[in-house]
Amino acid sequence: MKDDTCIFCKIANGEIPSATVYEDEMFRVILDMGPASRGHALILPKNHFSDVCALDEETSSKVLALGAKIGAAMKKSLGCDGFNLVQNNGEAAGQTVFHFHMHVIPRYAGGPDMVSWKPGEASAEELAKTAECIRKELE
Ligand code: AMP
Ligand code: ZN
Repeated sequence: MKDDTCIFCKIANGEIPSATVYEDEMFRVILDMGPASRGHALILPKNHFSDVCALDEETSSKVLALGAKIGAAMKKSLGCDGFNLVQNNGEAAGQTVFHFHMHVIPRYAGGPDMVSWKPGEASAEELAKTAECIRKELE
């Protein structure tokens, strides 16, 4: 299923040109136009899903392995020392394009710093309460 108003549907399906690094029947992987580091890529399913909660099983079962494959290729081709797989869901989480995508961000020794957070603090009691809260929803 495609969404005629969605730019990532158009890019994924080749209607808008992109710097493509990989393509198969289900996915196109392109370079991000505002790269966090050299090689920053986006894995786009060819079908439209707004976010991770909307993915079908086939897509979700393949996307992580594809992230690993692209990241491994980046280590060999670009010489990065590691990579982050990042995936934003919802405006509050930083999602700006509402077609599911997974970022593959090469990381080079020496920075820049990114995709990080400042560790907070929580008591064991608070952790237990929060875990219970989520667990109930999953029952
Ligand atoms: P997110 O904030 O997770 O929704 O990520 C959206 C990403 O898509 C950003 O990193 C943008 O730089 C990138 N982006 C938006 N439009 C395009 C485009 N036409 N081609 C390549 N990357 C894009
Ligand atoms: Zn789309």
